[in-house]
This record gives sequence, C-alpha cells and structure tokens, in this order.
Amino acid sequence: MFNGIDKLLFILEDGGRKYDIDKISEAYEYAKEIHKGQYRKSGEEYIVHPIAVAEIVAEYSMDTDSICAAFLHDTLEDCPDKTSLEEIRIRFGNDVAELVDGLTKLVVLKSENQEDTHIESLRKMFFAMAKDVRVIMIKLADRLHNMRTLSAQPEEKRRAIALETMYVYAPLAHRLGMQRMKAELEDLSLRYLDPKGYEQVSESVNQKYGQTMGFLEKIREEIKKELTKNGIKFTLEGRVKSVYSLYNKIFVKGRSFEEIYDFYAFRIIVETNSNCYETLGIIHDLYNAIPNRLKDYISTPKPNKYQAIHTSVIGEDGIPFEVQIRTKEMNQIAEYGIAAHWKYKSGEQSQPSVDEKLEWISRLIEQEENTENPDDFYGALKIDLFQDETFVFTPKGTIITLPQNANCIDFAYKIHSEVGNHMIGAKVNGVIVPIDRKLNNGDIVEIITSSSSKGPSRDWLNIALTSEAKTKIRQWFKKEKRPENIETGKNMVVSEMRRLQLGCTTAEFNSIMEGIASRLGMGSIDDLFSMLGYGGIALDKVSSKLREEYIKVVEPDKNIITSVSQIAVVNPSKQLKGFRGVIVDGLEGCQVKFAKCCNPLPGDNILGFITKGYGISIHKRDCQNIMDLMKDQPDRFVNVSWSQSINDSSDGSNYEAFMQLFVEDRLSMLADISTALAEMKVSITQITTQKTQNNNVIVNLAVTCKNLSHFNNIMSRLKDISGIIDVKRGFGK
Ligand code: MN
Repeated sequence: MFNGIDKLLFILEDGGRKYDIDKISEAYEYAKEIHKGQYRKSGEEYIVHPIAVAEIVAEYSMDTDSICAAFLHDTLEDCPDKTSLEEIRIRFGNDVAELVDGLTKLVVLKSENQEDTHIESLRKMFFAMAKDVRVIMIKLADRLHNMRTLSAQPEEKRRAIALETMYVYAPLAHRLGMQRMKAELEDLSLRYLDPKGYEQVSESVNQKYGQTMGFLEKIREEIKKELTKNGIKFTLEGRVKSVYSLYNKIFVKGRSFEEIYDFYAFRIIVETNSNCYETLGIIHDLYNAIPNRLKDYISTPKPNKYQAIHTSVIGEDGIPFEVQIRTKEMNQIAEYGIAAHWKYKSGEQSQPSVDEKLEWISRLIEQEENTENPDDFYGALKIDLFQDETFVFTPKGTIITLPQNANCIDFAYKIHSEVGNHMIGAKVNGVIVPIDRKLNNGDIVEIITSSSSKGPSRDWLNIALTSEAKTKIRQWFKKEKRPENIETGKNMVVSEMRRLQLGCTTAEFNSIMEGIASRLGMGSIDDLFSMLGYGGIALDKVSSKLREEYIKVVEPDKNIITSVSQIAVVNPSKQLKGFRGVIVDGLEGCQVKFAKCCNPLPGDNILGFITKGYGISIHKRDCQNIMDLMKDQPDRFVNVSWSQSINDSSDGSNYEAFMQLFVEDRLSMLADISTALAEMKVSITQITTQKTQNNNVIVNLAVTCKNLSHFNNIMSRLKDISGIIDVKRGFGK
C-alpha cells in the first residue's frame, strides 16, 4: 500500500524525466497543511483528492509546476482563510500561482442551466481561457478523480455532475486528443446518466465475452505468429471496446449487438510507418477484410492529430473484429494527446495569426470527409472563431458573453437595464474597479447598485462598447431628461454651426432647424434637439444637412448637385496608374479606400466620396448608400475611374470580393468549394457559415480576385458544384 506521495514519486521515477522533487514535496506538505481537518464525502481525509489528481497529472507526463498546481488546486477555493494567491506566488513562484488561479476561476459549473447553448459556451470558454492549456488538463484530471469517486456524492448531485462530464469534459478531452481520458470519463458518466442502459450493455458484454472467451487468445496467437515470421517487432493488445462506445452504437446509432464489427479490437504497435502498412497486409492475408472499413489516418491524420490505420476483418469463426495499427509515437499521441508532444512557451501564448487560423480551418475542411458526425466538424470550426468574444461570470456563476474589450458598463446593461441605470460601481474578482474597466475571460463581475443613483452619465455613451448598452442608456435619457436633452442637443447644433462657420439670425436658425426636423421625419425642433441630446441620432446626421438647409434659407441662389448623373464620367487615362488602381478626378496618388457596403471591383462603375480624414472612399455608382449620401452631402462627391492598366488586369492586383453561397448541407461541401477555388488559384480570406431555417447553409465567402470579370468567372464556376443552389455577390461587414 502506498503512503502519501510514494505512488506519485514512483510514477515520476518510472516516467524517466527530470522533476524538482523538493518543490513537489513542498507543495504536497503545504496542501496537506491547508486541507488539514477537512474530509471528503467518502469520509477520507481531503488530501487524498489532491494527491490523486497530482498522480493523474503525472501519468500524463506534465511538468513540475503542473503537479504542484494539482496539489494546490482546491486550496484557494476551499480555504481562503488559510492561504492566498500571493502566498502561493511567494512559496511556489509565478507559474504555479497562475495555474492555481486559472483552476480556481474555472470552478463554475454550479448553475442548474443545462441548455445546449449554455453547454456550448462553457466549452468555448474553456478554450478561450486556455492561455495556458495546462489549466484545462489539470482540470480534466480533477474531474476524472471526482468521477471515479462520484458514488460518495448525494444522488441528486451525481446526475448533474455526470451530465457536465459527458457534455463538457469528455469532448474537451477528445479535442485535446486524450482518448484514454475521454473513454474513462464517458464510461463513468454513462453509469450515472443511464444506469439501466449501462448495466444492459455491460451484461451483454460479459455474456458475449464469456461465450467467446478463447477467441481473443486464439487471434492473438495467430497474429503474433505471422508478425514474428515476417520479422516485425511489435506489441499487441486485445480488448473489448469501452461500454460507452458500444452503448452509443446500440442506442444512438441503432445497431444490434450482433452487427457491431469492432466489439473486439486489437491494437498492434510497431516501430515504423512502413511496418504499419506491412502489418496491414499481413492482417488482410490472414483474415477477410470487411469492405469500406479501412481507414488510413496515417496519411491523413484526424484534426486532433490522431494517426493510425483501422481495419475490420472476420476470422474463421465468423466473429468480426477491428485492428488498429500504429507506431509507438502515434500511440502516445492517441492516448495522451497534447501531453504527448508537450511543449509550451513561457508567459502568454501568442494568438494565432489570420494565416495560421485559415490554414488550420483548411486542414479541418480536408478532414471533413473523415468525420463521422458533421456537427463535430462545425463545432470544431466554431472553437477557433470566437476569439472576438469574452466570457465572464456573474457572482452566481452564470456565464455572460460579451464582445472583446467590453467593460463593466456593458456587463451591467447586459444583465438588465435597471442594473445599468442604478450602477454606482463595480467589482471584478472581488476588487472595486473603475466602471470602464475592460473585462477579461473568466472575470467574476459584480455590479454595485444603489436605489438613490442618479442614473447613467452621458459619458457612458462613449465608454460603452455594445450597442445594447448604448441603446439602453439612450432610452434612459430619452425618458428621464427631456428638458436637459433639448438644451444639450441645441448646444451641440450651435457649436457645430460655429465650427462650419455658418452664421445666421435666430429666425434663420429656426427655419434651418425646421427644415432638418421635417426631413428627418420629426414633429418639432424640440424633438430633434431632444433626440440629439440623448444620443438617439448622431450629430453627423444633422450636420450633413446643415449646409444644405443653410444655403436654402440664407443663400438660396447657390447651385448644388443633387444626383449621381450630374457628376461627369471621365474616360480612364492610359498614363496614370492611380492609387490601388483608382484615379481621382484625373489626379494620381490620391489616398483611396474601398467602401465595405458595396466592395467595388475593377470593372464596376464607381464614384468617390470625400470622407473626413480617410481620403476618398470608393463606391459603386448603384450603391444604395450613395443614393442616401447624395441627398445629404452632394458637395462631397468626386469623379473617379479605374486606371486603364487595372482594366487590362495585367498587373495582377488583388482585390477582396465577397459572395454568398446558398448550399445544401451535405458532407464535404466545404471541401468541394475550397478545392474548386484552389484549382483556380483563388485564395479564401474569410469564410463563415450559417444554417437557414429550411436546413440549407449560407456560406459567406471572401476571396481575392483581379477584377469584375474574374470574379464573375469564379462565381459561375462555383455554381456548377452539385448541391450549390445559388451564388450571389455579397458585401463585407
Ligand atoms: Mn478538486
């Protein structure tokens, strides 16, 4: 019988790596001290749990700091009076402290909310927080031990914990490639989620296993003999599949027990890649291969880097079985996943670049065919695509999703407008912070409210990031402060007119404002001022009409442009190259940008709009925004044209163009699209998908192309792919 950390030390020694045993022992002694007097539900001393977690972490060959963190993972949460993050930092260094802190914050699964969306955001959050993936792995070890000892928990808790494990933790282990962890978590969960089903499958297994007891042994001998004869070095494991994977095949996929080809599985571990294929040949010589069951994950690894060859065969007795063939190295990766090729940088992990992200996605697209469940595929995509979101908690542990860089004001209004309107302060992770404090993943946010609060301040409109918060703040001002709003709005207009140097009398001012109010569909000048005051309309909207109304009232003789056709089309010049292929009013080198609302391409009829400070923005002549802008600010349009060289398309400039594809939701659709584009040497710069109500999929795609006709060619090529219902030109956001 092992005592204390004897077993851990044995595992470490057996692993043959270097560890700081003194530090590990110290972490153990410290954890024992902190947890002294605490007991588990089973009646054992509490320290038994951290020891077990540390052992699992060690089995996965994780480093000294991870093992220390495993010992300390429950100290902050359970014994805040005996220790602190600072104390741990001083004793064990920054890395251990950061790990323990991460682990403490991940203790969130106390809410009763088991809806799919909640579970989905939990999974996302885990990954979002994985600045240090060790935190997730230690968390999985923690959960594994809790599952192994779940029977000590009261009945009503068991189910909730098992459900979480099945839907959050096991898929996480899978994504990290930790198959052994995943299988054990699933088997343990199933035992509590469907005790009857579990029992039924286990019984059938025992029964069937009993009937064919000699079978595994016989096959094992046959394979051994043949491999040895061929001079292949190997180890061989024969086993019965996990209860959960059999359960899944019987109850979820509706197969009968007899139909299961891989009830028995043999795993042959050899030395080299070519040994794998040789072994496959030998197996197929010995037994009859079942058609369509051969999967070569060596040449095309799974997204989680799993590699092996799988085949199913039938022996002389007519019993089918699966054979998995892999090298030692592949086996390590399969069982221990990310831990097998363990590498991490010190400090912050760098975010993947856009290119890395796209490469990763395209790799997943290639894998799509090998994915049994397309949901897995889309699910995997989602995980890397939510980097724009931040996940924070209420003090009760509910997850609130906000855009990246959101702050406490956004949080408060996301909870409820009344919370926002009565906010007088905020706490993040228990510490009072300024209300504009930016929120980070995993922060626990508490809003301090007071019934005597005077309501939000106008500055909040600039500080809040989400439109939800802004709208609610504006609503408050609209309701609560009409006289003040009118005053504020009027002052805004007066100072804007001063800035534009538009002087006039009070009577003229009133008729200018009446003109604008009626153009904006507002009943009175006061309504307009009030709306400006609470921010219901941007000053820009009014400002853009000021000059026009001013001219109407004060200088009615001045001539102004009111339609696109009044701006002449100038023939493109052969000599001028222009900036990004655009020549502005016959001038070379004007700074231009392409409007996102219509994304013009060389070949489109275009028009320029003089922006405030960003040069000329280029729109298509038939862009709806042009029509609107023309009504308000006709004096800011200029004639632009494509330079001749661009229309010839010989200089290979690349323009981003957008399209929307309406497609049937079938397997390898994305792979077909990306293959077609790759054949045309067109690169994808953005891709998102969304399901429609009738179960088709809309794919929003951005590609680079040379000009309009090139783009039209690309679209018509895609239309030919089977299952693509329609392709339309689209626009960026
Ligand atoms: Mn624990």
